[in-house]
Amino acid sequence: MRNLNCPQCGISRFYVKNESGESLLVTVNEKLKVLPVHEEDSLTGFDLTLLFCLGCSWQGPSQSLRNGSPS
Ligand SMILES: [Zn+2]
Repeated sequence: MRNLNCPQCGISRFYVKNESGESLLVTVNEKLKVLPVHEEDSLTGFDLTLLFCLGCSWQGPSQSLRNGSPS
């Protein structure tokens, strides 16, 4: 399963936030499923509808990510 990439800088690592302002490192697979990078982490309470790119200032929904094909 491939991971989706940031439409702006092309990396595949993002973080999500919860109401307390905590962040959690995630990736998004090609089925638009948000997965924690560290398997033991729980996504409970985190807002998975808004992703923040780790490599640039991009933020947005998983639907805006691009798959690995060259643009
Ligand atoms: Zn980016």
